[in-house]
Amino acid sequence: MIRLFDTQFSEIREIEPKEAGKFSIYVCGPTVYDRPHLGHGRFVLVYDILRRFLAYQGFDVRFISNITDIDDKILDRASKEGISPKEVADTYEQVWWETLDRLGVMRPDEAPHATDWLAEMVELIELLIESGAAYSTPEGVYFEVEKAPGYGLLARQDLSELRAGARVEVVQTKRSPFDFALWKLVESDEWGWQSPFGYGRPGWHTECVVMALGLLGEGFDLHGGGLDLCFPHHENERIQAVASGREFARHWMHNGFVMVGDEKMSKSLGNFETLENLLERFDSRSYRLLVLRSHYRSPMDVTPENSEDAERALERIDAFARRFTDLCERNHTVGADEGAMSRFVAAMSEDLNTPVALSYAFEAITGANGSMDRGQRDKAVAYAKAALAQLEILGLVVESKIDVPADVVALAELRVAARRAKDYALADNYRQEILDLGYVVEDAGSGFGFRRA
Ligand SMILES: [Zn+2]
Repeated sequence: MIRLFDTQFSEIREIEPKEAGKFSIYVCGPTVYDRPHLGHGRFVLVYDILRRFLAYQGFDVRFISNITDIDDKILDRASKEGISPKEVADTYEQVWWETLDRLGVMRPDEAPHATDWLAEMVELIELLIESGAAYSTPEGVYFEVEKAPGYGLLARQDLSELRAGARVEVVQTKRSPFDFALWKLVESDEWGWQSPFGYGRPGWHTECVVMALGLLGEGFDLHGGGLDLCFPHHENERIQAVASGREFARHWMHNGFVMVGDEKMSKSLGNFETLENLLERFDSRSYRLLVLRSHYRSPMDVTPENSEDAERALERIDAFARRFTDLCERNHTVGADEGAMSRFVAAMSEDLNTPVALSYAFEAITGANGSMDRGQRDKAVAYAKAALAQLEILGLVVESKIDVPADVVALAELRVAARRAKDYALADNYRQEILDLGYVVEDAGSGFGFRRA
């Protein structure tokens, strides 16, 4: 059983999939007009970790995340650069997947593109017009929120409360400021598509409805995304499905913001740092470790200090992996420590409590090292197997072996020969030479191993 905070009920609840043994997830993907920032990195990692854990729990997970390749921001960039919107979208989609690969994020089972779902969007909009949920104006087609019962569920506010807190947006032809565009009419020489409502472009909120229902079916298990998408985007998705008489997501999950120096991560604040910048400066696994160290619903701080601290923790993990990976692979009689595994699973099952789960993984590492030092080999292997399994579930790749250049290996062999000849001064010289080349040589049994200096 897994429990998660469900935004629509504002409480932690048991997540029961519609079909036993299966788990369907839709997560809103990027609008491909720029390089991904830290906020993108957080949401892909949060759902990657959830997905890995569900798979470990035996669920057959189907994970869909879209690519928004129709958007005014794409058009703006294309106009500025004098290229086509498709060229902009293709370029940044490529960057998106490359960055996800560097983060070790599993690719979605499918990544639908808005441009491939226009016919379905038009069909939904027609249905909403016919049922009276949407209306046409000289500017396009709008969804009428006043007529939709329950609008505001995900915002946890009804329309009157929303109105009280809203900035008054002046759009002459809309009946209510919260009505949102399903189809925007544009001039015939602009980027657009023909439709029964005229030449134009679909609104952003419609694509996710048709792609989620089209690929996962009605009443799919979980819809996720960043907290910034909760309202209005997700509420507007949900209300279109409801108004067209279809059951949408059974559960809603939202992850918190990324703060850089106490400010919410956003371009408008001018603290925009691309994920690639971060991945260039630090071990690419350090961002996953930072994400794991924060609860997914809390704001998350990213600073050079905590990134460096994450790198030190990774060093500890790698040192553990070098000591135990081979040993665990060779040992078929001892299993992972059951207590360590069940503590870990319990933490992950209770609203994906990764900070606690991660601390258990480190406890297992400490247990393995301590037991080994005391000569309790079986106990050490049991803890080590638990820790390695937990790190794998969290998607943290361990580096149990490092590629060492041949000249460094040659120096290490000379050092062993010098030690055998009891010429310790010479052996120390070799150690220093190896260090100067960026490696620390470690004695391991009758041979030697390395770690990066
Ligand atoms: Zn969406």
